[in-house]
Amino acid sequence: MLLAFSTWPEIDARLKSSRTVIIPIGSNEQHGPMGLLGTDWLCPEIIAHAAEKEGDLLIAPTFNIGMAQHHLGFSGTISLRPSTFMAAISDWVNSLARHGFDRIYFLNGHGGNVATIEAAFSEIYSDYSYSAEACPFILKLRNWWDLPGIARLCARIYPTGHGTHATPSEIAVTFAAYPDRVKSHLMEPQIAPSGPIRDALDYRARFPDGRIGSDSSLATVEDGRAIIAASVTGLIEDIAKFDAD
Ligand SMILES: [Zn+2]
Repeated sequence: MLLAFSTWPEIDARLKSSRTVIIPIGSNEQHGPMGLLGTDWLCPEIIAHAAEKEGDLLIAPTFNIGMAQHHLGFSGTISLRPSTFMAAISDWVNSLARHGFDRIYFLNGHGGNVATIEAAFSEIYSDYSYSAEACPFILKLRNWWDLPGIARLCARIYPTGHGTHATPSEIAVTFAAYPDRVKSHLMEPQIAPSGPIRDALDYRARFPDGRIGSDSSLATVEDGRAIIAASVTGLIEDIAKFDAD
């Protein structure tokens, strides 16, 4: 069930049998010369929407802008500051919790979001801790590449050149879902450099085409299909565990 394509009475009825909701969350940021700017929100959305067809899941609209200050040196990137991002996450959670959702699961597609999402969770829980009230919901963050079986699968498909940004696995997922949007580019160097992530000018100087440690040109539609299928299985399994928590 997709929240955006439901009516309020349908959500009201849904809440009588399940109080779990999944929020795909990502970022709109550069992904090297052949990766789509939407890659980090597209991947969790693609996986969640595919899983919704197979399991009894409720998927919220995609939270598609994240913490990407370090990518602002590249055209098309849109970023929230950590403080803005945390405030927005808190409002999303409190809106859903107000209706009675008690299990709120963020399926994340951007490594740069992790610290801020975790900090937002701590802020939200703090409100209950300081007032000595029981928090009526639980929150969970899961990166799609940490779903059961995915890291092993990606390591097998891409023994070299996977890297950490504009990875062939994430680009393959978008290509499999949108084959008419497939792009190609001659990678120079083949495998991008690695290094620390700081501010936008430093990032642009260290990683001139935007990739980190990856060879995006390894991505294929076929690999993407295999990664999506395994991620769907992993997500349904992970949600069943979360429901039982
Ligand atoms: Zn990415």
